[in-house]
Amino acid sequence: EPSDALRRAESLILEIPDYPVEGILFRDITPLLADGPALRATIDALIAPFAGTYDYIAGLEARGFLLASAASYASGKGLVPIRKAGKLPRPAAAVGYELEYGVAEVDVHADMPRGSRVLVVDDVLATGGTLAAAHTLLRKLDYEIAGTAILFEIEGLGGRDTVNDPRLHTVFHS
Ligand code: AMP
Repeated sequence: EPSDALRRAESLILEIPDYPVEGILFRDITPLLADGPALRATIDALIAPFAGTYDYIAGLEARGFLLASAASYASGKGLVPIRKAGKLPRPAAAVGYELEYGVAEVDVHADMPRGSRVLVVDDVLATGGTLAAAHTLLRKLDYEIAGTAILFEIEGLGGRDTVNDPRLHTVFHS
């Protein structure tokens, strides 16, 4: 049974039609972030199923950073930013992937010990392309995917199949 704070958190995710382009229903989590008890309940629900199963939390740029940072503090685990192409200051591992239009890339610094268990965190699961690339990147560096924790899952886009993680956990869904 979701708590009152978690129920309120869900009501604070706004649906913005035609942003950033026509036909996209954008899920805006900024009102949820602005509500202290809702944010805390959401972060707790995001990581609860994974207690004791991971060594690091990786957040996906940019909104994934906001959640991963709070989750890292709550769990006492280190934070690993997975960045968009060319943002990291030292040579980084990279994986490219296809977007609807064009290509993208995710980068990470391999500063954690090999074999570390990493919980991957992001705000919204849509097609799952970004998360799948993040998983490929971490596995390439011999890290273990402890699980995938997502604030909001948009159903019907095949994201769950693309991510293909038996330990995918989503707090809210469409
Ligand atoms: P995807 O790779 O299609 O699963 O989505 C990539 C990123 O785009 C996710 O990390 C989300 O932050 C963002 N995103 C995609 N679709 C939406 C949406 N409808 N509302 C809000 N964010 C979205």
